[in-house]
Amino acid sequence: MLHYDRQVTTICPYCGVGCNLNLHIKDDRIVRVTSFYDHPVNRGNLCVKGRFGLEYVHHPDRLTTPLIRRNGRLEPASWDEALGLVAERLNAIKAESGPDSIALLSSAKCSNEDNYLMQKLARQVIGTHNIDHCARL
Ligand code: SF4
Repeated sequence: MLHYDRQVTTICPYCGVGCNLNLHIKDDRIVRVTSFYDHPVNRGNLCVKGRFGLEYVHHPDRLTTPLIRRNGRLEPASWDEALGLVAERLNAIKAESGPDSIALLSSAKCSNEDNYLMQKLARQVIGTHNIDHCARL
């Protein structure tokens, strides 16, 4: 008897290596993680985070929507609302103090393409070279 209802093939969310994950799902919960031996990125190997670190997906405290602080309290907001607020604040800071008053910190959890776009946002849109990456810290 199978211990799962279905399998979902995806990419590990933890780092930019991009290992293949094969999620075993039962009752809409991840019950086991394996990887395909013929996958070109990781050949079935997974580090401890990819293999055993996905339980957070089901944690009740997990954030599933942006939060905006209003009157000292964090309140759920839409992505359009949250991104609009960030753009508005960044524009205001840039107008008041110049582009080099802003710095962007990107993440090893993002893909290379995401990190490339982040430095484009810093250099081409905001106008600063203040861009760094958490893997250097
Ligand atoms: S399994 Fe480990 S090495 Fe592979 S992508 Fe996930 S965190 Fe990175």
